[in-house]
Amino acid sequence: MWLFYKVMYPRAPKSMMPQEGDVTEPRNCNFCGHSLAEYRGVLETKTVASKAAVSDTTEDNTLFFCNYEHQADFHAGRGYEP
Ligand SMILES: [Zn+2]
Repeated sequence: MWLFYKVMYPRAPKSMMPQEGDVTEPRNCNFCGHSLAEYRGVLETKTVASKAAVSDTTEDNTLFFCNYEHQADFHAGRGYEP
């Protein structure tokens, strides 16, 4: 039986594991609100007018999405339909 599980559930590939420097802090998707570890989603830095604004805003300066699809839908102005 142990062999069955070993075959069915091999070790997670390295790419799925957090890498050095990855942010594992959970964040909520700006599109659907789903909570996901930051390194597994898409982090987008908003374009800001001046450098001074960047140092002022830390949290509000980024957008976070589960995937590129949600990022695209967000920018397309679509609403989230579960
Ligand atoms: Zn999402």
